[in-house]
Amino acid sequence: PELFAPERPNSKGFDLTHRPTLEAIDTARDGFKATRWTAAPLLACEASVGETAPMVNPADPHDTVGEITWASPATVRAAAGAATRWDASPEERAAVLIRAADLYEENYGELFALLHREAGKTLMDAVAELREAVDFLRYYAAHAAGAPARGVFACISPWNFPLAIFTGQIAAALAAGNGVLSKPAEQTPLIAWRAAQLLHEAGVPRSVLQLLPGAGDVGAALTSSPEVAGVAFTGSTETAQIIHRSIAEHLAPGTPFIAETGGLNAMIVDSTALPEQAVRAVIESSFQSAGQRCSALRCLYLQEDIAPHVIEMLKGAMDALSPGLPWKLSSDLGPVIDAEAHEGIAAHVAEARADGRLMHQIAVPHTGHFIGPAMIRVGGIEDMEREIFGPILHIATFKAQDLDKVIDTINGTGYGLTFGLQTRIDDRVQHVTDRIEAGNIYVNRNQIGAIVGSQPFGGEGLSGTGPKAGGPLYLDRFREHAQTGPVG
Ligand code: GLU
Repeated sequence: PELFAPERPNSKGFDLTHRPTLEAIDTARDGFKATRWTAAPLLACEASVGETAPMVNPADPHDTVGEITWASPATVRAAAGAATRWDASPEERAAVLIRAADLYEENYGELFALLHREAGKTLMDAVAELREAVDFLRYYAAHAAGAPARGVFACISPWNFPLAIFTGQIAAALAAGNGVLSKPAEQTPLIAWRAAQLLHEAGVPRSVLQLLPGAGDVGAALTSSPEVAGVAFTGSTETAQIIHRSIAEHLAPGTPFIAETGGLNAMIVDSTALPEQAVRAVIESSFQSAGQRCSALRCLYLQEDIAPHVIEMLKGAMDALSPGLPWKLSSDLGPVIDAEAHEGIAAHVAEARADGRLMHQIAVPHTGHFIGPAMIRVGGIEDMEREIFGPILHIATFKAQDLDKVIDTINGTGYGLTFGLQTRIDDRVQHVTDRIEAGNIYVNRNQIGAIVGSQPFGGEGLSGTGPKAGGPLYLDRFREHAQTGPVG
């Protein structure tokens, strides 16, 4: 079947309600059920490397996904010495990135298998993730022309979008003509390695893109390498602060730092909202990807009058969720990424249970790092000390006359990534969206899954430095002279 329509500006993805499509997906990924990938740094020079370690499926400790040989700080120094910017015309760069997008789509079976087995992504998440990666490649390719590149960028990407954000950062840097030293998250190096291979196969020169899988020491070596002309980072606010200090200490003044960090995202549901629509939006925003999105809903504010009714509906909708092995089509959510994440989230739930604030939790498989989606009562978002990066929904109630206080409290967290509003009053949409300080505001829908090109994504305050990924201004930070609009 014709699975993709390449002439569309955004990838069409897969229709998971279409039986022939599902059969095609099964055939494409089945050959990778037991594959053990063997990955290592991808370098443009000889260099010493670090240790080799197994990578294990977060949903199943008996499934070894492959082996990774880590980069070391010495590997980083050698790679930085061999790195070059991309000496090709914008047209050539765009053609290579578009070829890479095609290669990603052709290799979807293997990429899905890696997303399931290394990152715990469900099929629905894997489909969305591949689409987003492909969209980034094509979108930035379309904006390749413009002011000269800055040089070599360090791209440091997260495990929660191990293909999409990994690719997005690199594609942006490359489209503008920079070279890239990429450090994927230590939880997901195999998928990054396979994607980097596809980028090389598409025609990105080795010296222009090198892969340095590793932990914090590799990141620290990168952000203190004098050859680095800019840093793109997505991850926690704490790590962003460490990188920021390293840049200030070691790199040239004015080195751009493009950071997309954490959030403490809220949704307000007033008494005029459509309950079914609100419940669906809350369930998707809190529990899709097992809540491991920086855009995910963390604190729901329900207007008092409708709270009991909506809470009962939410409990019913939670009971209907089916957590399970990522490979299975029936699984709505998979595990969290690793033992450390599991421990932190489980401790948070245990504390709420001990305090009598755990309102509901559903059961999950006993193998792997599964956490049962849970609902916890809070007085307000100010009670949440930190972002809990998992399938945990916190609920507060508010009185109609306190709406502005709620808005102030949400703004008072200092984060500003996503925000959701459910109401059927037009004036209220205006009133609330005028006051909320958040990068991405969603009204009467879920608050995750921003679409490249139409919903540029990024936050303010503690949530990021801007500009937004997948938007017309993003590439400017990767170029020497800031431009004000799309070029090319
Ligand atoms: N762009 C993603 C979304 O809209 C979130 C990115 C992230 O979690 O870092 O859901």
